[in-house]
Amino acid sequence: MTATPPITPEAMPIPRKLPQADHKNLVGLTRPQMHDALIAAGTPEKQARMRVNQVWQWIYHKGVRDFGAMTNLAKDYRALLAEHFTIDLPEVVSRHVSADGTRKYLVRIAGGHEVEVVYIPEEGRGTLCISSQVGCTLTCTFCHTGTQRLVRNLTAGEIVGQIMLARDDLGEWPEPGRAPKDETRLISNVVLMGMGEPLYNFEAVRDAMQITMDGEGISLSRRRITLSTSGVVPEIGRTATEIGCLLAVSLHATTDEMRNKLVPINRKYPLDQLFAALRAYPKLSNSERITFEYVMLKDVNDSDADARRLVKLIQGIPAKINLIPFNEWPGAPYERSDWARIQAFADILYKAGYASPIRTPRGEDIMAACGQLKSATERSRKNRFEIAAEAGLPQPERIVRRPDAPDVH
Ligand code: SF4
Repeated sequence: MTATPPITPEAMPIPRKLPQADHKNLVGLTRPQMHDALIAAGTPEKQARMRVNQVWQWIYHKGVRDFGAMTNLAKDYRALLAEHFTIDLPEVVSRHVSADGTRKYLVRIAGGHEVEVVYIPEEGRGTLCISSQVGCTLTCTFCHTGTQRLVRNLTAGEIVGQIMLARDDLGEWPEPGRAPKDETRLISNVVLMGMGEPLYNFEAVRDAMQITMDGEGISLSRRRITLSTSGVVPEIGRTATEIGCLLAVSLHATTDEMRNKLVPINRKYPLDQLFAALRAYPKLSNSERITFEYVMLKDVNDSDADARRLVKLIQGIPAKINLIPFNEWPGAPYERSDWARIQAFADILYKAGYASPIRTPRGEDIMAACGQLKSATERSRKNRFEIAAEAGLPQPERIVRRPDAPDVH
């Protein structure tokens, strides 16, 4: 039986209380970080571990945002929490529902920056596509986000907060004092395929996913989380060892010459380096295949020769392939391949033994389909220190380049 998401009016701005700068936001802190923060706020050391468990369950299992409602805590302790902390999520600026049920949320984070989050309901599952950066470090030429310069990385709180605000909208938190009406999760899967390159914001993504997987809270299985990278080779192995989720690779081309154009990070980590890292991926197995994403661009990367080269490239890697019909966006330099061409391409992969489903475009009518996300937040002429200061975030590390350091772009 499929749990159907509640239908509520469209584009409903939800006013939220603005973050209190002098109060630390508990959302996004890992357990050790919350432990230290509670002690720093006056929690006796010997109680801290228990308090972390209690507060964690209220925030991530029950979805409670008001310390006053945390009834298994003494009143004075609730007061102490309210004095030092907040429970803040990104603000939902607008919410659009597509004719096919896909939902797109435009959310605002500290500093007034905006990112997009997409919910895709399907038969027996619901996938939430979340963002990890405002804009993107990279400039893949088929991707709308790639035309938006990186403004900043999201914090762990802003990443896990996307899951929590979608649960709010879908009414997926347990109702106080009532047994859950339906065990089926509306958000059964989370994919890091929204705006940004997650591996260029590794620590925040790692912490947010560890919070999401924690069994006392949202408790989403690591195998229900997929991180998609365009190929940041040095961080690929860490995804397995420090996050443990499934891996997807934005491949999109089968030669260095073509991938340098479509996925420019290929110039830094060409195909041989990328595939060496994938063949050494610690979690590689038939039950945990790597997903190769391949956007179908008309007369660019969709020939039979491309399909055969793709089979050769991934040989020996437990893999599945997602063919993504290109979703056009204003000013896009490409067209979607014809369906017959996409079908012929899929047949070659299928005959070579690879499941290669063609991803059904979802939410096109609300610009929510793959590669269509872009927020209005444009990077002004401010540098990242000014942006961090404005958002009240810790100053990013100053990179001191060695005078003899080679010039890499
Ligand atoms: S495909 Fe991913 S990595 Fe490439 S520009 Fe778009 S968001 Fe960034």
